[in-house]
Amino acid sequence: MLDLDKFKDVNDSLGHEAGDHVLIECSKRIKNCIRKNEIAARLGGDEFIIVFLGTTLPEDIDNIGQKLISALAQPYVIQEKNVYCSASIGIAFYPDDATDIDTLLRNADQAMYRAKTRGRNNVDYFTENMRTDFLKRMDIVQDLRVAVAQKQFHLVYQPIVNLQNQQIIKAEALIRWDHPDKGLVSPIDFIPIAEEIGLINEISEWVFNQASQQANFWRNTYSPDLTISINTSPVQFKNKGAQIKSWAESLILQDISCEAISLEITENLLMENQAEIVDTLSEIRQKGIAISIDDFGTGYCSFAYLKNYSIDYLKIDKSFVHAISSESKDAALCEAIIVMAKKLNIEVIAEGIETEQQKQLLLQAGCLFGQGYLLAKPLSIDNFEKLLIEQDT
Ligand code: C2E
Ligand code: MG
Ligand code: MG
Repeated sequence: MLDLDKFKDVNDSLGHEAGDHVLIECSKRIKNCIRKNEIAARLGGDEFIIVFLGTTLPEDIDNIGQKLISALAQPYVIQEKNVYCSASIGIAFYPDDATDIDTLLRNADQAMYRAKTRGRNNVDYFTENMRTDFLKRMDIVQDLRVAVAQKQFHLVYQPIVNLQNQQIIKAEALIRWDHPDKGLVSPIDFIPIAEEIGLINEISEWVFNQASQQANFWRNTYSPDLTISINTSPVQFKNKGAQIKSWAESLILQDISCEAISLEITENLLMENQAEIVDTLSEIRQKGIAISIDDFGTGYCSFAYLKNYSIDYLKIDKSFVHAISSESKDAALCEAIIVMAKKLNIEVIAEGIETEQQKQLLLQAGCLFGQGYLLAKPLSIDNFEKLLIEQDT
């Protein structure tokens, strides 16, 4: 099973005629790599299958796979320009991997999917682990649809504190899935799937509604300056950021201060369609919703990108925070991030503080805010409220 990488980008940016040209050229290159009695066919879109008949040796198949990958990775000349469009290949064998056509194709497809997740421009093979992973994933996919319909979720709130005086300045809302049979399911296990199958907008809408009501209540009752931070997914910035923009409107309509909510975005988002993202972020920031970059240091962002956006907080990823007590390069990076953020007028929040030593070193490095098990775990509504009451008195 062979699938072109990022073929959609060719269509979107150069038009369908250019896309057709690439497909035709691909077919020619594929034909050049295989023998006369072997079958190549286009399944649809940018997907091809190649069937090797008889007793072709696995080593031979691997060689042909590599040959195909490098043939297809050569530039395509379109409108006198070089266009690049690599391919990913998944391989399954009959009768070892499956004894019927449908399963064989599905298994090759899964292998191809893994080749893509391994960075594209790759050949990969079907394995039994893939089948069990696939079945697990299908389980979650099915259950997640029910979970969204029945709202089987709740939020916990983890305090973000001023490291000098322990005052709670914010809290991060973190989603939990109350699975009827499996118990609590971590967001790490279902958010990426929700993003892929298009359920993330609905889930996020629920999170936003819960968190904004809660923030409003806590601000009116205990802590007028409290902000609740919500995690967002890059998918939500599609469609000109319509969902994100509607949140600001919704707060205003409900007479909730926009300062009650702040949004956490991922670093990689800033690398995408710049103009659209700049527009969405600046629109909601003008209304008073603050923006934090989550897990800073783990993605592909650079400080060069940061200067194009107006950002309020940068959350240093826990991996750097954990390294700060060592004399590693990561520790040096952590300090450098703090210094540079300051120069750009961005506040820094350290994530995942687990020890007193980490906290002291962060303070010394000039980091004012922190979050982590040392300070407080993610808490239920009741337990978070107790902390707010304690702080009040
Ligand atoms: P995140 O936004 O970076 O959230 C921080 C994660 O670190 C949370 O994991 C939190 O429980 C954990 N954590 C906090 N303090 C410590 C510490 O001292 N040590 C360690 N090792 N971990 C600590 P959690 O709740 O499992 O969430 C995982 C990720 O799932 C979040 O990472 C976020 O990316 C995503 N997520 C959670 N809730 C939502 C949501 O409502 N929407 C979206 N789109 N993503 C969410
Ligand atoms: Mg977060
Ligand atoms: Mg984080």
